[in-house]
Amino acid sequence: MGPTVHAGLEAGSPGAAGRFGLESGGAAGRRGADRSVGRPGLGGRSVSLAGFFGRAAAMAGFEAPEGSNGPEGSGGSQGPEGSRDPEGPASPPSSASGRPFWGVVDLHAHTIHSDGELVPAELARRALVQGYTVLGLSDHADQSNLENCVAAAVAAAAGLSGHIGLTLLPGVELTHVPPAQIAALAARARALGAAYVVVHGESPVEPVAPGTNLAALEAGVDILAHPGLLTPAEAELAASRGVFLELSVRGGHSLGNGRVAALALAAGAPLAVNSDAHAPGDLLTPQLQRTVALGSGLSAEDWRRVKAALEALADRLAARAVRVRAVCKNIQMQKNYE
Ligand SMILES: [Zn+2]
Ligand SMILES: [Zn+2]
Repeated sequence: MGPTVHAGLEAGSPGAAGRFGLESGGAAGRRGADRSVGRPGLGGRSVSLAGFFGRAAAMAGFEAPEGSNGPEGSGGSQGPEGSRDPEGPASPPSSASGRPFWGVVDLHAHTIHSDGELVPAELARRALVQGYTVLGLSDHADQSNLENCVAAAVAAAAGLSGHIGLTLLPGVELTHVPPAQIAALAARARALGAAYVVVHGESPVEPVAPGTNLAALEAGVDILAHPGLLTPAEAELAASRGVFLELSVRGGHSLGNGRVAALALAAGAPLAVNSDAHAPGDLLTPQLQRTVALGSGLSAEDWRRVKAALEALADRLAARAVRVRAVCKNIQMQKNYE
């Protein structure tokens, strides 16, 4: 089996040095705004982040952390892989791993292993600096590149976790796969070590094959991305299967956010708010993620519930990744003795 999975259970310590003043395009997308602002830099953050950190949490709609401080790597709570913050959690932990509740949980992002611009290490580093606590790698895959794609995500999570200050989860996005083949490919992705499977849903702006949303829901994948043409019956199915329906921050895909949010809320289906990042400027901040949620029609209380469910999902996926790692290790050990 390929590289072993080392799920990033260590809690993030977001630096929060994101562009919290960024004007968001909200549900209408934000790529234009990103381009005008430019890419987030990693350096030059010499100002005190103490007030900034608390302000960021408040702007994200959550309680401002008491005494939170420091740039990335020193603020926030820490998980089982080492604590660097003697002051403890920056805000009431919402997950088993003690992540600060206000950090970004984004489970849809692309790297050079499909059509993204950055290697996972740089994407993760930039995400941390913008206030992420959980980043999922979900590169585009079909039958031709599934193994490489999952192997790359698994290798990135294994190699970087414990060293980067956020939880990195290996996933994959099945993209334009014929609906009848989605279930089998999703199962294959999991067998290869993917902690979660995203399906590229029926976006309003791409000719995704009709029936893709339904096939993904019936297959019980983890996240149905930008399913803008969702039906009420499909939203009910998502609720019963526990498939997270995505509100997309990506321009174009985001055109369906209002419909998806309304149907998901009515059906009680779980929601995610993801960047679908391909470039560093696409990464979220806590404030932007919340803004897009509210712009899609969620109330502040809806968003709080959605965020709690996302934290719980991230914990489940991290645990799944750990189990996969254990299995892979056992297989490797057996091989060593053969
Ligand atoms: Zn793409
Ligand atoms: Zn995508």
